[in-house]
Amino acid sequence: MARDYYGILGVGRNASDQEIKRAYRKLARELHPDVNPDADAQEKFRDVSTAYEVLSDPEKRRIVDMGGDPMESAGAGGGFSGAGFGGLGDVFEAFFGGMGAAGGQRRPRGRVQPGADSLLRTRLSLAECAVGVTKHLTVDTAVLCDLCQGAGTNGNSKPVRCETCGGAGEVQTVQRSFLGQVMTSRPCPTCRGTGETIPDPCRKCGGDGRVRSRREIAAPIPAGVANGMRVRLAAQGEIGPGGGPAGDLYVEIVEQPHDTFVRDGDDLHCTIRVPMVDAALGTTVVIDTILDGPTELSIPAGTQPGEVSVLRGHGMPKLRSSARGDLVAHLDIVVPTKLDNKQSELLRKYKSTRNGERTEVLSAQSEHNSGLFARLRASFSGR
Ligand SMILES: [Zn+2]
Ligand SMILES: [Zn+2]
Repeated sequence: MARDYYGILGVGRNASDQEIKRAYRKLARELHPDVNPDADAQEKFRDVSTAYEVLSDPEKRRIVDMGGDPMESAGAGGGFSGAGFGGLGDVFEAFFGGMGAAGGQRRPRGRVQPGADSLLRTRLSLAECAVGVTKHLTVDTAVLCDLCQGAGTNGNSKPVRCETCGGAGEVQTVQRSFLGQVMTSRPCPTCRGTGETIPDPCRKCGGDGRVRSRREIAAPIPAGVANGMRVRLAAQGEIGPGGGPAGDLYVEIVEQPHDTFVRDGDDLHCTIRVPMVDAALGTTVVIDTILDGPTELSIPAGTQPGEVSVLRGHGMPKLRSSARGDLVAHLDIVVPTKLDNKQSELLRKYKSTRNGERTEVLSAQSEHNSGLFARLRASFSGR
């Protein structure tokens, strides 16, 4: 389960970098072990520091926003620092500003890093969502540089130790604060924390080990997907710096509105216009369904305004299941707005045969009303 880093810092998902920093500072002031030795507070301080480490790093925050947990992949991918306990480095970064992204590094990090995940959106019609489809997509990502195979060097040249940091990958500064004088370190700006530089870089990739490239992929989209869902294609994302393992590619579904049906989860809703006389006498109508072709719906004699008629199992397929939702037809009874003389006369004649009927205000407890309310409740609960 991904942890709720926004909740830990008490900020909204749209919080700006400034708001995140402010929330973190406030909590760090209360919880820092030097200020609050309580064991509980220390636990919280670690959580808060981890949350800040994640949300202050655009890459990690992106992973969180895509529903992942960047700290969880730390073990597997090896791309992130330590066990995620930010500690002093991060506190100082929040209070005094630092190099940003790579807070909390303690050793030179390898030049080879795991690649980032990528996200693409694709439009699907409701029919495509219903049956599933293979989408041919153009992906523009970083791929391995074929000239240096990720090494980043030109020909047989080799990387050399960074002169700025002496190969440590970080530079140190002394800072003064409410906690006393503390030495902090940050990633070396010359080698970006790798501890080495490439004096004779690859002509094609400039030393990064990867180049941008466009390619076509076939993305299998399963039946039952809905707007906003993301299909994950493992290792189809960006390749990492130095030829590191590729991230994942997520394909987000953008469902196009349909002419007839409105989707609600696995159910489909449509509205059927029923002329007053058809509602009274009963009729049938053919619905052109998405998966089952033309399907007959019978509208019984005496159908009332607001009634629904449900075709069970004629809705959308449920994802990774053979079950299907329902098709719910809302019956809209239409009273004619214009009548010619002959029609008016026919209706008056009809009225004269219905002696007991008149227009009246009903008691809320009347049988008619309770029936109407029961039907409304049933249609809300999707019966
Ligand atoms: Zn360096
Ligand atoms: Zn290259």
